[in-house]
Amino acid sequence: MERRVRVRFAPSPTGALHIGGVRTCLYNYLFAKQNNGDLVFRIEDTDSNRFVPGAEEYILESLKWLGIKFDEGVSFGGNYGPYRQSERREIYKKYVQQLLDSNHAYIAFDTPEELNAKREAIPNFQYDASTRLQMRNSLTLPKEEVEKLIAEGKQYVVRAKIEPNEEIIVHDIIRGDVHVNSSIIDDKVLYKSADNLPTYHLANIVDDHLMEISHVIRGEEWLPSAPLHVLLYRFFGWEDTMPKFAHLALLLKPDGNGKLSKRDGDRLGFPVFPLEWHDPKTGDISSGYRESGYLPEAVINFLALLGWNPGNDQEIMSMDELISLFKLEKCSKSGAKFDFEKGKWFNHQYIQQTDNKIIAESFNKDIIANGITTTPQKVEQVVSYMKSRVNFINELWPLCSFFWIAPTEYDAKAVQKRWKPETPKMMKELKEILLQWNDFDNPDTTEEYVKQWCEKQSYGLGNVMNPFRLMLVGELKGPHMFEVTAVLGKEETIRRMDVALEKLPTFA
Ligand code: GLU
Repeated sequence: MERRVRVRFAPSPTGALHIGGVRTCLYNYLFAKQNNGDLVFRIEDTDSNRFVPGAEEYILESLKWLGIKFDEGVSFGGNYGPYRQSERREIYKKYVQQLLDSNHAYIAFDTPEELNAKREAIPNFQYDASTRLQMRNSLTLPKEEVEKLIAEGKQYVVRAKIEPNEEIIVHDIIRGDVHVNSSIIDDKVLYKSADNLPTYHLANIVDDHLMEISHVIRGEEWLPSAPLHVLLYRFFGWEDTMPKFAHLALLLKPDGNGKLSKRDGDRLGFPVFPLEWHDPKTGDISSGYRESGYLPEAVINFLALLGWNPGNDQEIMSMDELISLFKLEKCSKSGAKFDFEKGKWFNHQYIQQTDNKIIAESFNKDIIANGITTTPQKVEQVVSYMKSRVNFINELWPLCSFFWIAPTEYDAKAVQKRWKPETPKMMKELKEILLQWNDFDNPDTTEEYVKQWCEKQSYGLGNVMNPFRLMLVGELKGPHMFEVTAVLGKEETIRRMDVALEKLPTFA
């Protein structure tokens, strides 16, 4: 029988979730959903020194905003809990003992000072088969001595006993078979008596086993740990149910080589975190995609294509399409450059295809923040005329404020160029014919009406439209002229014309 697909996202709560971590989680989600499997949210908090308060909540809020849903885990419940490793101490004890009993691990008492002395004495010192017999551990000390030290409460660690010169193969769905010689692996610490907790390696393996994880999809930075993980599965006799591995290539700097870092974002002006992050230690605030005006669907689509593509030119894909099209084995082996300009492009595309009502709700917050109260209809109308011009919703207000705030001054350069001696007379006539017009709501018929009048009077269109725009907007910007009049309506259009005719040169 095929094994049920169960994958997990297992962050350590050490700070904000990096955008690369979001992509890892997304790929886990897509893979779980396309296989009708489960996505588990596990918190790997065995390293108390690196714990950052608020990080777990931040990660949960980020993924919720992005629409990535978990089936079980911390805050979601489930049958395999607890899902926070610091709450699983008792569970791990048995497995540490199992490795000690089967001689795959040993107890070591070396103090940090002793280890440092060794590192200084032996170049490239590695705690392994070549050195372990020179150290203070249960392989070199008599059994009674070991028992005495433990009884006295001396701190110790449990180390994996890695035999040298064995071939280890990591079967990776993306990379194929990765061969590693065990001699390069040191006798990694699996448990620390000081914390009464296992380290990442042991807790990760035990939990993946107990939680019946079928596939481990994670960042490439964990590939170096994989050979040890394969060995641990062997030590426990769990090879038959060992999860399949898939190590995702890194997200790279937009320019140059190397891993994408927060500094790149600061330097080039884009967020590397999904939500704004307030670092509780430094007090620093880092920008987030949400607060920068990205739509979650756009972020998802953008990230999905950093390291995978559907094999054709299709770029715009909904979450449902991604779920059906995504192929883990087609993920790239080499890193994907983080092209944030493309991220903006995606946001632009998603603004165009999102219902105006939803964009309007968000834009209305900026309008209110500027002290304006308005009607939802007007906001939606402005959105429908203006959204094609922006990449972000927060670009709308500076472009559109004139719809609510009448000009009090007029762009001097534009006046000089466009407000000619014959203009005031033309604009007065235009006002007169507009007073007779009642279909302002319809930009097309209004345009037709004004154009016909221009033709009849033999007035050049530019000589009419530019000063007309100047009167209503204050400068020569904005959408189509008759979209402006449609939003302003008859009364406000005429009022602005009257004010402008007062304020602008009359040449009389
Ligand atoms: N706790 C690790 C992390 O922070 C998990 C690595 C893994 O998925 O095995 O990414």
